[in-house]
Amino acid sequence: MFDNLSLKLDRAFKTLKGTGTITEINVATTVKEIRRALIDADVNYKVAKEVTDTIKTEALGRDVLIAVSPGQLLIKITQEELTKLMGGKKEDIKISGDPSIILISGLQGSGKTTFTGKLGAHLKKQGRQVLLVACDIYRPAAIDQLKVLGEQIGVEVYAEPENKNALEIANNAIAYAKKTGKKTVVVDTAGRLAVDEVMMSEIEALKKALNPSETLFVVDSMTGQDAVNTAKTFDERLNFDGVVLTKLDGDTRGGAAISIRHVVNKPIKFISTGEKMEDLDVFHPDRMAQRILG
Ligand code: GDP
Repeated sequence: MFDNLSLKLDRAFKTLKGTGTITEINVATTVKEIRRALIDADVNYKVAKEVTDTIKTEALGRDVLIAVSPGQLLIKITQEELTKLMGGKKEDIKISGDPSIILISGLQGSGKTTFTGKLGAHLKKQGRQVLLVACDIYRPAAIDQLKVLGEQIGVEVYAEPENKNALEIANNAIAYAKKTGKKTVVVDTAGRLAVDEVMMSEIEALKKALNPSETLFVVDSMTGQDAVNTAKTFDERLNFDGVVLTKLDGDTRGGAAISIRHVVNKPIKFISTGEKMEDLDVFHPDRMAQRILG
């Protein structure tokens, strides 16, 4: 059904064309199909409604009624609108300062530590001297996990397993980075299973003290509307710079990308598509629009 939205719209219009009576009402009905598809793809209802209203106006303005292939034209317009909604073009992370600090936030299990490793590999590939910092003080396994990833990608990991003060660890790591000529420091932080006040004040304090050039929020794309609510809560406290959508190798369409962008108005910068270190892509709105439409 949803997998073939493009075909489905084409077929619907072909049948209508056979009768020679494509009308505004037909277009409206077909646009409803698009709305349903977007909702199925986890796009928030309000956002789906807004975007399909725009699509309808655009479609009628662009003579979809007399197009050779109205279904294809509608898909094209939809794709353009979704791309626009997700910011239009890719956006890079900001790297500045000596060292430049990138702070990684998100709930436990979202894929933070895995992403920290991937980002380390990505930055290393750009020729940067990178230091990864294990500041997840509540999950000792996270320290070992990051160390293993660091070894795998050939990037040094700074950790103080006995220290339970994240800010102290981060400050020591920055001093170490300066001493050893590492210009880019990526700080992995602690997450919880759900948003809680202790975690929030902790990461808020870290951000304030470290003044990172980039704060990224990592979120599991499989969590649908929860992803949007979590993004909103984190953004209210952290005013983050960008979003990392993980687990897009699952069977999610990725509609969370549109909803999150719409609700927090921050760009999505990376997508993660697997557990391996190379499963990381820079986010391209047009590609995601295609994926959402199926
Ligand atoms: P953290 O608690 O936020 O640091 O999350 P982890 O990085 O430990 O990730 C939680 C689990 O999700 C681990 O088993 C990871 O291997 C897995 N994971 C992380 N990113 C992805 C992804 O993009 N796709 C898939 N399939 N699994 C992922």
